[in-house]
Amino acid sequence: MARKKLLTKSDYLDGLQCFKYLWVMLNEPDRIPEPDTSTQHRIDQGHLVGEWAKKLFPDGIDIPADDFKDNLRQTEELLNKRKPLFEAGFMVDNTFSRIDVLKPVSKDEWDIIEVKSSTKVKGVDIHDVSFQRYCCEKYGLKIRNCYLLHINNMYIKQSEIDPKGLLTSTDITVEVDEAMNGIQKRIDNLFSAIVARKCSAVNIGEQCSSPYDCPLKEECWDFLPENNVFEMYGEKKKAFTLLEKGIYTFKDIPDDFPLNGKQEIQRNCEINGKPYIEKKAIRQFLNTLQYPLYYMDFETFSSAIPPFNGTKPYQQIPFQFSLHVVEKDNATAKHHSFLADGTDDPRNEFIASLKKVLGNSGSIVVYKMDFEKGVLNRLATFLPKYNNWVEGLNDRIIDLLVPFRSFHYYDAKQKGSASIKNVLPVLTGTNYDHLDISDGMEASLAFLDVISNNVAEKEKMKIREDLEKYCALDTEGMIWIVDKLKELVR
Ligand code: SF4
Repeated sequence: MARKKLLTKSDYLDGLQCFKYLWVMLNEPDRIPEPDTSTQHRIDQGHLVGEWAKKLFPDGIDIPADDFKDNLRQTEELLNKRKPLFEAGFMVDNTFSRIDVLKPVSKDEWDIIEVKSSTKVKGVDIHDVSFQRYCCEKYGLKIRNCYLLHINNMYIKQSEIDPKGLLTSTDITVEVDEAMNGIQKRIDNLFSAIVARKCSAVNIGEQCSSPYDCPLKEECWDFLPENNVFEMYGEKKKAFTLLEKGIYTFKDIPDDFPLNGKQEIQRNCEINGKPYIEKKAIRQFLNTLQYPLYYMDFETFSSAIPPFNGTKPYQQIPFQFSLHVVEKDNATAKHHSFLADGTDDPRNEFIASLKKVLGNSGSIVVYKMDFEKGVLNRLATFLPKYNNWVEGLNDRIIDLLVPFRSFHYYDAKQKGSASIKNVLPVLTGTNYDHLDISDGMEASLAFLDVISNNVAEKEKMKIREDLEKYCALDTEGMIWIVDKLKELVR
């Protein structure tokens, strides 16, 4: 087969996810949107972890990867040195792969070590390494074992980062061997796909978000009408079954199609155009609220490399809270907030500031309580003097998500979501669109920018203002939601 194009490791993985994505990537790359901030963050974290992994091989040689040809040339020269090589590149029959760490073992064998910022081995990692092994063996190297060097989520930073504790190695040789079965055929198929003049038609499917969210999703899913079956609460499989039958909207779902109670509510709301309201259940929920009401929301950040002593990889570290206090029915809310200055571990100051403004009685209203409770419990573990206080708070916390997750209130405009980002606009007409930071991920990444000193002082000020506005809307929004629920059941 004539092979004009190069198939890299990431092309191989993209192609396994979807032929169409690979074809567009290689033939019409302008159609691929730039990675969003959260994808870029994941990529950056990967690079950071890669740098720590190199420290485990003090005699390793770093082969610059910027210049493709130079990388191949240097790899060829350095193989004879029998030292661990970082970013060694191999190209055979138009397949190309770089290896994070190629480690010499025994007299003439090598181990492949792939470094990942994840905390466990995923299916895609096995295919990733199988392609590396394919390229190495085609080149003529003898590969003994394959490993995934990934984050050890039990590691706790004590002082300086210890790469031996931060990273743990999993032997994936057997799994990679299995994935090598049929690899030549898969590669041939991908070459056929990428040299085709036209991209073969691919239906949308579960591959669109697995193993990664495909960047072409907006384009490929654009044919679906408003309020389509993919807004079905909690189930994508049913939506794909309906799609196969040519059913795109809730209104067209046949009566004999199995739907659970919540999905039935969704369909009925779509058909009659009215919200579903279970007044009795909402009343019961509202009756659990005891004044004074503390509407509370936390923002956290996390990072693969623990930033402070006593933290683990990916631990959610709270850096901001907003608290609106309503003393009694119809009283004006009083606002308190905390936003760490970003120079040090914020946890001590965070919990001390919270304790000052959170009174000893009254309900604490949050949205999705597992998150806030988790943060508080981890703070108490780290700072045991707050243990009893946090234990007392747990019983006072009330989750405003409950009436919406239980579909005691549902409006089709929520699009199958019980998130505050969907509920608030529907119930109150206020949304997050006017804010420069409009979700928790953006808040977390913005704060990481502040602490990493990647932004100028003026920009930091702006980020801090945006964070304050965003977090305050989450808590003030909860007041408006509760007021609206009260109005609905009056
Ligand atoms: S959105 Fe789905 S169908 Fe479209 S290219 Fe991506 S994976 Fe393929």
